Amino acid sequence: MTFKELGLHDDLLEALDHMNFEKATPVQEQAIPIILEGRDLIACAQTGTGKTAAFLLPTLDLISQNKKPGVKALIVCPTRELAIQIDRQVQGLAYFLGVFSIAVYGGGGGGDWDQQKKALTEGADIIVATPGKLISHLNMGYVNFKNLTHFILDEADRMMDMGFKEDIEKIASFLPKERQNLMFSATMPSKIRKLIQTIMNPNPAQVNLAMSKPAAGVLQAAYLVHDAHKSKLVAKLLEDKPNLSKIIIFTSTKDKVKEVTKALNKENYGVGAISSDFEQEEREEVLRAFKAERIRVLVGTDVISRGIDIKDINLVINYDVPRQAEDYVHRVGRTARASTTGVAITFINERDMHTFQKIEKLIEMEIVKQNIPAEIGESPIWNPNNKANYRGRDSKSGGDKNKGGNKKRHFKKKPKQYKKD
Ligand code: AMP
Repeated sequence: MTFKELGLHDDLLEALDHMNFEKATPVQEQAIPIILEGRDLIACAQTGTGKTAAFLLPTLDLISQNKKPGVKALIVCPTRELAIQIDRQVQGLAYFLGVFSIAVYGGGGGGDWDQQKKALTEGADIIVATPGKLISHLNMGYVNFKNLTHFILDEADRMMDMGFKEDIEKIASFLPKERQNLMFSATMPSKIRKLIQTIMNPNPAQVNLAMSKPAAGVLQAAYLVHDAHKSKLVAKLLEDKPNLSKIIIFTSTKDKVKEVTKALNKENYGVGAISSDFEQEEREEVLRAFKAERIRVLVGTDVISRGIDIKDINLVINYDVPRQAEDYVHRVGRTARASTTGVAITFINERDMHTFQKIEKLIEMEIVKQNIPAEIGESPIWNPNNKANYRGRDSKSGGDKNKGGNKKRHFKKKPKQYKKD
């Protein structure tokens, strides 16, 4: 379906033309008419499906007809990188509409605060914000949401994981009661269903897009590998694939980000790293360098697995199996975006076999598992049901290096690798 057929404003059609968006993606095709009708919407769609434009296009269309002053739409998302990215997409799509936006997130200097304050009081039509920083502004009492008509939550499931539920409810309490609410999420756990009841109008429309499956263009494979051989294996993969210019390596912890970066830098691979340990400026600089191909490899935690749109990723390497099956989909979703192709390779040690099997169930697909090259070492044997292997992940006994971490995870609800912005 073309965007013209969806009945969007001519100025938006012109912007889409400049961005070379020719046809609406499935989530856009389904969500845009519902939003244009003014209904609340819950959409299950993963990154890479064009979900950002699915909520931005109709929202821009509707608010461009609203001539009242002040903020008309608030978009809340979990991370600074995602806020910056959504804000950029607003700027591209709204170029001919005369609609202005600003991203409000933590980590910047005092100058940012003043600029954000100005936008929140008198300037921007659209605010794209992370919860923490927005609440700091709201607490100062000068934010004017009187004419706001649209409230959008992006990556709602990730926000729940990061413990933002109360923050979202608090933000919603500052908004006019009469408004259109749009919620986008890759998954729909029960925590979100409860949140929906508190912030949305009754009976929201729903759109479900083939959830929890990586995009069809991704070629997925796995290596069975002991921890001790992982760094050699990753170096070998990079060496064997000199034609691949954009590679992301995901690890589950910040410490492993350091470990992998150190190992690869020793071999003189152009490597940059991102985790919540890094300051905002550093994170942005690394992302810029990676996008501009000044560095070939980006190593990061799941902070970069969601939302961040970096084009043409050729290869995703999961240095370890993500703890939550949905994170696998998000990590792998970094490649093969908007119908290109890519490769995703996962390293599976004995302890992760059981978790990987759960991922295969979620994505309804069996992934080919290979042994590592003999010159690196021997592979463990695939045995996901061997309790001696996986017990360590779920209880105090078993496992090795991860013992302390597992113990903690047993009692903690939220993964702690994120810093709230
Ligand atoms: P998203 O799922 O919103 O992160 O979008 C994934 C990527 O697809 C982004 O780079 C968008 O710019 C791009 N994209 C979104 N919609 C379309 C479309 N209709 N045609 C081509 N590319 C698109």
